[in-house]
Amino acid sequence: MSKTHLGHTARKRFGQNFLHDDYVIEQIVNAINPQTGENLVEIGPGLGALTDPVCERVEALTVVELDRDLAKRLRQHPFHGDKLNIIEQDALTLDFTTVKDNLPDPDKPLRVFGNLPYNISTPLMFHLFDYAHSISDMHFMLQKEVVTRLAAGPGTKNYGRLSVMAQYYCTVMPVLSVPPGAFKPPPKVDSAVVRLIPHATPPVEVDSVHTLERVCAQAFNQRRKTIRNSLKDCIEVSAFETLGLNPGARAETLSLQDFASIANYVVQHGD
Ligand code: SAM
Repeated sequence: MSKTHLGHTARKRFGQNFLHDDYVIEQIVNAINPQTGENLVEIGPGLGALTDPVCERVEALTVVELDRDLAKRLRQHPFHGDKLNIIEQDALTLDFTTVKDNLPDPDKPLRVFGNLPYNISTPLMFHLFDYAHSISDMHFMLQKEVVTRLAAGPGTKNYGRLSVMAQYYCTVMPVLSVPPGAFKPPPKVDSAVVRLIPHATPPVEVDSVHTLERVCAQAFNQRRKTIRNSLKDCIEVSAFETLGLNPGARAETLSLQDFASIANYVVQHGD
């Protein structure tokens, strides 16, 4: 299978799998439903598979592209005219507050979308969760397995740290499954589009999000162990009873509320 699409050779290190299925592209753009006047930000525009049809519908679009050659190509593309604001940078380290502040209407929240490079999709989502208060929604193409994990509930095998943290920040809505043949070159896995809508108010009260993340990471790092064992460094066994939790339970059975209770206990009792 050729790695060249529209004269560009896909770079594996940048997670480049370019969308070329017009039906899939239309479905994604319809799901995003971009409107003029919104603060739209695309991550990884690549050769413009989503950029072009979004630009057809709106007056302005900000794109973040790390590949210098692709950024140059977008800049030279006559079709976009003045509509594109191209940020040639690593989205993983980009300050999205600064991006928003530099837009014509910084009071409006960002609408972020992209067919993400799969090699960095999870850290990228965690980076974006830090800006959830400035974002009204996100639409991402991801590995299907990642979408399943984002949406998974307690007691299921895909439930983990990503599920708990994503659901702390956002409502997670799978939108569309996409087969490998929709991309050039085709990825080895199935893909899916997910809509993430940041909560106006978090569904649980958390004293420190950092501690919630740490507790989740530790509990799921040793998911076969009971929480009594996996969390023994940060919380004493007797505390589980105080919190109404079974110390013999495994992380995968705990709800977001349970994790929030543990994290708040850790903050309030020191560790
Ligand atoms: N949107 C295009 C499409 O759907 O055909 C390209 C999607 S391709 C899966 C991922 C894109 O993200 C590529 O253009 C790649 O160069 C870009 N990219 C990779 N790592 C990036 C990063 N850290 N920051 C910004 N863009 C990145």
